[in-house]
Amino acid sequence: GGGGARGGGEEKIFVTVRVRPLSSRELARGDVADWECPDEHTVLFKHPLPDRSPYPASYAFDRVFGPDCPTQRVYEEGAKDVALSSLTGLNSTIFAYGQTSSGKTFTMRGVTETAVRDIYSLIEKNQERNFVLKVSALEIYNEIVKDLLNPDSGPLRLLDDPDRGTVVERLQEEIVRDANHLRQIISICEAQRQVGETSLNDTSSRSHQIIRLTVESSPRIQDAGLANALVASLNFVDLAGSERASQTQSEGARLKEGCHINRSLLTLSTCIRKLSAGGKAKGHIPYRDSKLTRILQHSLGGNARTAIICTMSPAHTHVEQTRNTLFFATRAK
Ligand code: ADP
Ligand code: MG
Repeated sequence: GGGGARGGGEEKIFVTVRVRPLSSRELARGDVADWECPDEHTVLFKHPLPDRSPYPASYAFDRVFGPDCPTQRVYEEGAKDVALSSLTGLNSTIFAYGQTSSGKTFTMRGVTETAVRDIYSLIEKNQERNFVLKVSALEIYNEIVKDLLNPDSGPLRLLDDPDRGTVVERLQEEIVRDANHLRQIISICEAQRQVGETSLNDTSSRSHQIIRLTVESSPRIQDAGLANALVASLNFVDLAGSERASQTQSEGARLKEGCHINRSLLTLSTCIRKLSAGGKAKGHIPYRDSKLTRILQHSLGGNARTAIICTMSPAHTHVEQTRNTLFFATRAK
């Protein structure tokens, strides 16, 4: 199974790429696909590259999902192992990374729903342990943290708890009754995020959403062979549009409009690059430089399991941002 195989005891981030179909708008303007997926590990630029092009023609990943690939398979092969490791007490995070309109929300929605179904079916079959699931949901917009389950509560502060690490003060957490209840809660968050979108121009391209499931379990009977109480976080993260972290944005737009670059996204990229570098190259990991990475610190690196699904449009008009995404994805491996 995919979704998080590790080599040699090193932390390894499971990196996949999902290419969406050309949209009807792209088709209507005569846009064409620049990329193809010749096999399940490769994204290939279709056209000849000029001599000494700075860009590779082909990129390799743990898995590549082409435009016809259903979300069920993206889950099975790109996220399932990471999602289910939460049942054994390991913190885990599944990210969607990509430019605006590349399919992050579409993918995360499907992956979250499939994961919830999968987790509940395993929990219900489990004879050995009792499980309690809790859910919270937040959005980070301009480094301001907002509770999506309690949107009127105002900006939330991050606190350092000696036992639990970084906690979000006053964040509402609900006990989940069953898979249906969880789906309801998630759709409330989505509605909440869309409210923000109409009042504030283009919020979803600038904000990060984290849906956090806390999975607690304990043995039904005392048995020396069973692990005692286990607690783990499983985070589903729909990131801000990756154009918010790109070099061109940060250089060109910095003077005019300082808030264009997204501190959390840039810091996340740095943390992920360093985590993947492994060994000495890893150095200091700047989790504390942004809200997103502070909140996710204990679910990234160390024992935690991480999957990143990078989403891309195949359209010619997006080739520059797509290359940025593929570059990020390559460094995250
Ligand atoms: P993002 O969240 O990255 O801005 P969306 O998830 O909103 O992008 O996707 C943009 C549009 O493309 C939406 O209309 C979505 O339904 C559609 N879309 C995205 N990925 C796929 C896919 N794999 N198959 C079909 N439609 C998709
Ligand atoms: Mg989105």
